[in-house]
Amino acid sequence: MSHLGEKDRELLQAALKVMENAHVIWGFKVGAAVLAEDGKIYEGCNVETWISGLGTCAERCAIDHAVLHGNRKIKAVAVVIEDKNVEKSRPCGACLQYIKDFSDDGVRVIMAEARAGQVLSETVDVKTIEELLPYSYESKQRALDSFLRG
Ligand SMILES: [Zn+2]
Repeated sequence: MSHLGEKDRELLQAALKVMENAHVIWGFKVGAAVLAEDGKIYEGCNVETWISGLGTCAERCAIDHAVLHGNRKIKAVAVVIEDKNVEKSRPCGACLQYIKDFSDDGVRVIMAEARAGQVLSETVDVKTIEELLPYSYESKQRALDSFLRG
């Protein structure tokens, strides 16, 4: 994790901490933390329900948390996944689009797995949102957003 900055480590630790609050029925625990435009960190965890599709992912929970506090942009995202998953730690497609919608270009997504309350340093991976989602849905909404912001 030597390539991570202080704020990146702080984000990872925040995601790790809230991962324990995940409400898991059949999947695995995920914690996320976003650095928002107000300079604060907002966390989220996944919440599963018995009805497939009603639950939410940790990443969207964290972004919603930031929006709840008046933010519309995020500067970085950390995602920590319980080391029970067979796949690499990655946001799902829906979350990648959600992250993109609240990001400027080049926002970093810091991903890691965790076991026994520790981030597994060998699993830490950092990508930009464009690397993870090169063909995002941009639409005219972004142009409208830029227009409205002046
Ligand atoms: Zn997701």
